[in-house]
Amino acid sequence: MIVNTPILCVLGVFVFAIGSVVGSFLNVCIYRIPWQKSIFWPDSRCPKCYHKLAARDNVPILGWLALRGECRYCGARIAARYPFVEALTGLLFVAVFLVDFAHAPRAAWGEVSTRAIVATVYHAVCVALLVAATFIDYDLTIIPDEITLPGLLFALGAGALCPWVRPDPMYASTWWAGLRVGLIGLAVGGGITQSVRLLGSLALRREAMGFGDVTLMAMIGAFLGWQAAVLTFFLGAFYGLGHALVKIVLLVVKWLSGRKLSVADRELPFGPYLSMAAATLMLGWPWIWPGWARGYFETLRVVFLFLTGLG
Ligand SMILES: [Zn+2]
Repeated sequence: MIVNTPILCVLGVFVFAIGSVVGSFLNVCIYRIPWQKSIFWPDSRCPKCYHKLAARDNVPILGWLALRGECRYCGARIAARYPFVEALTGLLFVAVFLVDFAHAPRAAWGEVSTRAIVATVYHAVCVALLVAATFIDYDLTIIPDEITLPGLLFALGAGALCPWVRPDPMYASTWWAGLRVGLIGLAVGGGITQSVRLLGSLALRREAMGFGDVTLMAMIGAFLGWQAAVLTFFLGAFYGLGHALVKIVLLVVKWLSGRKLSVADRELPFGPYLSMAAATLMLGWPWIWPGWARGYFETLRVVFLFLTGLG
């Protein structure tokens, strides 16, 4: 396929449309999976009057805008979060598409290989799962296995079938090497999170993090490889710090005013920040790895070899 700027723009609009349809499906997942409800049955209904929605109301973003955010039948408000999730998924898909196509090796006349298309789909699946995990964790502070386990299996399977799908240094050329990259990423991502979770629980004498964060990080590691998983953990903690500081201020104000503190005041979902960090690293990897992270990991390797006497 030959790619130039006008074709890229048309494809971008097409990718956005696919992303918003996927976002519409993610809305269903976000509201139904935590309650163990089927995501395929029944079809979309108004949450208040249970009237079945017309096909035109189900069109992502535009359906909500045409109704001005109100149910056609009973006039109940429809949360702006529905079109927001659809638009967000659409934009993330476009970002994934641009990064994977811009960095695909191509011939002089601009031909892009099928590898770029496979990489785009691989990263789009990852981003969709991260969006679902983010909103469920934000609502209920849980990350269902129904999101992370299929994601984990997909990443391992696709990473083995298309071992070249992950960028340098997770690039592999045989199916066995591709599977190994996924498994090491899974172990490192899940491993650091579980270690910090156990240490945090000992220090705080209560559960510091849910097990959902462990499976989420295992999934991120399987998709992106162990180097990106390590960086995701620290970047996620950094992102979460801003929210944590706001919470601490609110907690102190509440405590000073003599009101009773609830468990929710002290809880902070980590999943959204881990997901945001993973998406940042996935999209920024062509710049982050050669520009900064490669040197950092090389230094760590030298220090490790020196300290252990293996060098
Ligand atoms: Zn209604």
